[in-house]
Amino acid sequence: MGEQKVAVITGGGSGLGQAAALRLAEEGIAISVVDISETAGKETVRLVEEKGSKAIFVKADVSKAEEVKHYVDKTVEAFGTIDMFYNNAGISGPGVKFVDNTIEQIDMVLGINLNGALYGLKYVLDVMLANGGGRIVNTSSTAGVVGQATVGTYSATKHAMVGITKTLAAEYAEQGIVVNAIAPGTTETPMVREYKEKNPDAFKNATEPIPQKRLGQPEEVAELVTFLLTGKAPYINGVVVPIDGGFTAI
Ligand code: NAD
Repeated sequence: MGEQKVAVITGGGSGLGQAAALRLAEEGIAISVVDISETAGKETVRLVEEKGSKAIFVKADVSKAEEVKHYVDKTVEAFGTIDMFYNNAGISGPGVKFVDNTIEQIDMVLGINLNGALYGLKYVLDVMLANGGGRIVNTSSTAGVVGQATVGTYSATKHAMVGITKTLAAEYAEQGIVVNAIAPGTTETPMVREYKEKNPDAFKNATEPIPQKRLGQPEEVAELVTFLLTGKAPYINGVVVPIDGGFTAI
């Protein structure tokens, strides 16, 4: 407790969440790793500890409000407060044109990507308001900024992250809370490798136009997240930062 800064990362067991946990650990920040997968989350805890920082794992399905409240409570119990929140857990959905989604598929993506992110914000903000401030990074996507075929529900949830980011920046700036979003392009994580395997054509169409002609790397996104959560420019507030090799610039 005391001077130790504390970050909560949802979906911290894999991909972007894990990369950010490891990068933030280099800054000496204590990490609360939240994930639905215990094996993945515990592996991130091990890697954070290997870097000399503190970490706990809290198992939670972010689509369930009571489990979200639980990870917030557990983090405060372990570390005293929450200074930073990387609201990152998400799934991509089935990768089909919109009418071919089942209602269950639509509800599942909404439950995790939209409800899960909003529940996290509600409970984490409570702690930050009591704490006198904090920094938040919400996870949008290039699919939250432009349209992208076959990821309709996903795209709807990622556009929603833009709306909530701007609203919260307006609502809580005076209480010392800074809220931004990131919009990564296709980044080489397990989620993307799985999507590529299942939908090779859609993957090709989405990645061919990238001006830099390569996929993003999780470590690059982690660098941006670390800057937004810890960097010396907290006047950056309510924006959506693309990190996409130029994809949304053209
Ligand atoms: P990933 O699949 O590698 O990691 C996601 C993690 O979230 C996994 O550890 C998984 O177990 C966890 N998770 C899934 N459902 C959960 C739930 N209900 N409750 C708690 N945890 C859950 O994915 P990633 O590529 O690292 O993606 C992370 C975030 O970044 C997602 O929100 C994704 O939409 C977003 N994003 C990714 C890319 C990309 O190209 N990889 C691009 C833009 C945005």
